Amino acid sequence: SRAQAMEVTESPDVTYDDIGGIDDQIREVREAVEDPLEDPEQFEAVGVDPPSGVLLHGPPGTGKTMLAKAVANESDATFIKMAGSELVRKFIGEGARLVRDLFELAGEREPAVIFIDEIDAVAAKRTDSKTSGDAEVQRTMMQLLSEMDGFDDRGEVRIMAATNRFDMLDEAILRPGRFDRLIEVPEPNAEGRARILEIHTQDMNVAEGTDVSEVAADLEGYSGADIASLATEAGMFAIRDGRTEVTQADFEQAREKLQDAEKTEEQVIN
Ligand code: ATP
Repeated sequence: SRAQAMEVTESPDVTYDDIGGIDDQIREVREAVEDPLEDPEQFEAVGVDPPSGVLLHGPPGTGKTMLAKAVANESDATFIKMAGSELVRKFIGEGARLVRDLFELAGEREPAVIFIDEIDAVAAKRTDSKTSGDAEVQRTMMQLLSEMDGFDDRGEVRIMAATNRFDMLDEAILRPGRFDRLIEVPEPNAEGRARILEIHTQDMNVAEGTDVSEVAADLEGYSGADIASLATEAGMFAIRDGRTEVTQADFEQAREKLQDAEKTEEQVIN
């Protein structure tokens, strides 16, 4: 049903301050989503149309979903999330109907931000195979395109999507009037990783003498999601040990644990 497939949040609790290392991307999203929601007259006065759709692309766990939630929160808009995978695991015609419902609901709840995660699930390039499953996915994508094409007069609804597989997308969804603002959200650099760890440890009871920036210096290759797990794991080591303060050693143990987990994962894949 509608309720199961969509996640609707009146006011998500994520703010821009919770997001580390992607300040340029935050600025771009604000311009493309927040400004048109808050000051549509400005766009009208200047005589330009705001971007129709904003596509966030980049590796997993870098903050794309957070960014969409934060812009909805900071624009006082309802956040309506749908996973692309939800749109395809359906009976014939159901994906297209869900897309219609999604836009209808957004219209009822405006101002609203629609966020379609894993958009590649519905908008991948056409393959050669002509199985009925592909035809159904195709229909769902067509419905999405037609909703976006009829989008101009939808008032205070902005549409966003995210993908880890930008290379797989059908160019049809990137045309003007559709997802015409692309924002790359990359893996964090050293400075970004330090900021993200700072964010995820700011409410933690960190033992005196623990140098969080020293921990951060050793996180090459970590995504934001990895860093969030690292902080949680470090806290878990303290709890298991019956302590209320998290020490440098806890962070080191947590890092070893995550590295071991990653190795096991690699072995499973290979
Ligand atoms: P996916 O492509 O896997 O859906 P995503 O890019 O949407 O990933 P998020 O869901 O936004 O990633 O991030 C997952 C979690 O990782 C967040 O809830 C947060 O705890 C942490 N995180 C990721 N990126 C950042 C960041 N830039 N700053 C702070 N925390 C982050």
